Amino acid sequence: MENEHTLDWLIALVENAKSIGTEEEKKNAVASVPTSLVESLMHNTALTETSTELKLFGKGIPASPGAATGVICFSSDSVLDATDEGKKVILVCHETSPADEIGMRMAEGILTVRGGMASHAAVVARGWGIPAVVGVSDLEISEKEIKIGENRLEEGAYISLDGSTGEVFSGEMKLRESSEEISELKILLDWADEIRSEHIKVRANSDTREDTERALSFGAEGIGLCRTEHMFMGDRLPLIQRFILASEESEEEKESLNELMNAQRLDLSEVISAMAPNPVTVRLLDAPLHEFLGEETPDEWLEHNPMLGTRGVRLAILREQLYRMQTRALIGAILDVREMGKKPNVDIMIPLVSEVSELDLVRSWIEEEVASVEEELRPSIGTMIETPRAAITADQIAKSADFFSFGTNDLTQLVFGFSRDDIESRVIGMYVNEGILSANPFETLDALGVGDVMKQAISKGRKANPGLEIGVCGEHGGDPASIKFLFQAGVDYVSCSPFRLPIARLAAAQAVLSSSN
Ligand code: PEP
Ligand code: MG
Repeated sequence: MENEHTLDWLIALVENAKSIGTEEEKKNAVASVPTSLVESLMHNTALTETSTELKLFGKGIPASPGAATGVICFSSDSVLDATDEGKKVILVCHETSPADEIGMRMAEGILTVRGGMASHAAVVARGWGIPAVVGVSDLEISEKEIKIGENRLEEGAYISLDGSTGEVFSGEMKLRESSEEISELKILLDWADEIRSEHIKVRANSDTREDTERALSFGAEGIGLCRTEHMFMGDRLPLIQRFILASEESEEEKESLNELMNAQRLDLSEVISAMAPNPVTVRLLDAPLHEFLGEETPDEWLEHNPMLGTRGVRLAILREQLYRMQTRALIGAILDVREMGKKPNVDIMIPLVSEVSELDLVRSWIEEEVASVEEELRPSIGTMIETPRAAITADQIAKSADFFSFGTNDLTQLVFGFSRDDIESRVIGMYVNEGILSANPFETLDALGVGDVMKQAISKGRKANPGLEIGVCGEHGGDPASIKFLFQAGVDYVSCSPFRLPIARLAAAQAVLSSSN
């Protein structure tokens, strides 16, 4: 951040524009605030000048902004034990999976050896506003200590990280608390909303009531991505494992589906009621099997490339009852929300489609399930566009979809052929340093390649289905440079983690202003 762009500078800018009071002056204020300033105000930052004994320990990918400090714990269980004792904790591990999410939520920060901007640890940490550094590939973790080269830290020792720079320090860092409640920032963001709201909407990626309430307080106009697989964590993990491993149409399958349905209905009704009457796009299960089955995976389910394997709609087609169950849970939730006197507003979204027949088949199952409810309560049915083939055949897919939402994490992975879990720590950093790539494409949308594929899909999709609503729900939906591109490409909304909403609102307004100049 440049020095002159401080919180005091922002306050003076807004006060001045308020006192002049013209639309022009408000627009100037919105245009002149760097999104990096808003980002730094949303998170704790490092007060390195007052931190003694801090020593740079290592560096990785800055995956979720903000600074954090705490004692080293190696597992979700030890995070829970340490936080029970009132300690602040940094979770340090090779990589995270859904089974770690209880511990991740309780940690001050997350540090992983593997992964990149779109890996599980990064996506979840950003969603929850937890600082994270991932892909510290030279970090070695043994039973009782971590080391990089000759530098060692024992489990229980203090470690600090800055998720905005990727730096990791040994020792305890002093932190400056976030200033998200600053009234001048709120005023500025209201002005930003006035400028952008007729042109591009801003929604949140959220799958719990708590996150949904936070998203509303940060200005979300709906939920663009409710990842239902996040509802199968913790003590529900055995249920989804039991379902996947059960044979089709067995009693075991039926029982696990019933339990999953009840749990999911409850979770969904909480999210939908918190966001009502604003829209909630519920994405049906998209589970790379290794994330759910972990060490339990029997040989017959082992895959060499789980991210390209039995995921998303593919698992659903293998196991017809899965999406049928999720649809019934959703209908139950819609009825529950109406019962509360609220107006549920829900869409169903199908992940990882690459061939329109996949969508047609699961759509027919969903339509059978929703047929019993009144027409006005029936969710619209759309699809993610996250495989190159879906984008290339967008004209066909648009005829079977009520809306599109670009999953730019997977689309980037597949257009480049870059594994979103493996490539960033070793290759992308080097590519950016050497000027081979101008930016990390998992952070800032690659306009020339991925962006071009998207533009063609938007044009084909709208031609085949005029009025098709189009959003973006990958991590790029919260990145300022990507938002500028996406606005120009004609998307109706971007959706991002709750903590990125203020940045997205400002960036979207700036995109509108710069296109009207
Ligand atoms: C995406 O691929 O961009 C997306 C939003 O889905 P997920 O990250 O859950 O794969
Ligand atoms: Mg995806």
